[in-house]
Amino acid sequence: MPEISIAELSRVVQKPGESANDFICEFKKVRSRCRVFLPESEYVKMAQRGLDFELRKKFQGMEFRDFYELAAKEVEEIALAEVANSGSRTVPFLKRKSEELSKKNIPPVQTPYTFDASKTEEIFDHLVKEKFITSPSDHKLPTREELKGRDYCKYHNSFNHNTNACWAFKNVLQERINKGILKFPEKKEAMIVDEDPFSPDSQCEHERY
Ligand SMILES: [Zn+2]
Repeated sequence: MPEISIAELSRVVQKPGESANDFICEFKKVRSRCRVFLPESEYVKMAQRGLDFELRKKFQGMEFRDFYELAAKEVEEIALAEVANSGSRTVPFLKRKSEELSKKNIPPVQTPYTFDASKTEEIFDHLVKEKFITSPSDHKLPTREELKGRDYCKYHNSFNHNTNACWAFKNVLQERINKGILKFPEKKEAMIVDEDPFSPDSQCEHERY
C-alpha cells in the first residue's frame, strides 16, 4: 500500500449516500497508510471535518477523544432495543390515562398516548424481563458511575434523554397497544400497587444501572 500524506488524508470526505460509520471506517483505513504521527484526537478532528454538512453541524463544538466516541455519537439515536411485534400480552404497568388528564384541553401532539406515560421505564423493564424487548447480547449497561446525574435512555442506549422522556419508545408502545398486542390489565387494574422502591429486590435492580 502506498504511503499517503496528511494533505491527502484530509481530502477523504464522506461521500453522498455513505453512512457516517462507513466513512469513519474508510477514513481509518486510509489513515493506516499515513506515517505521520499525530495524536488520535487530531485525526478525529480531521475526520469530523470530512463528515457531510448536516453531521458536521450536529457535531460542531464537540470534541471526541477517539473514533469510537465519534462513531458512538453518530449511532446513539438509533434504537438499541428491539421490541417484539407479535405475541399479545397484558402489561401490569400499563394504565389507561386518567379521565381527568384526557379531558384537559392538551393538543394531541403533546399527549398522543392512551396509557399513563409516566410508567414508561417500568413498562420497558417489565417487557425486558418478559423477553418482549431484546438487546444485542454483547450490550453492556452503563455503570452506576457513568449514570450518576445523567439522563439515560434504555431504548436508545443514549445519554441524550431518559427512558421516561423517550417519545420514540412511547410511540412504539402506543402502536403495539393500538394493534392489540400490548393489553391493559383491565380487571385487576385497581389492585396494582407500585413496587416498593426500597424493597431489597428493586434495590438490586438499581445496582445494575
Ligand atoms: Zn430514547
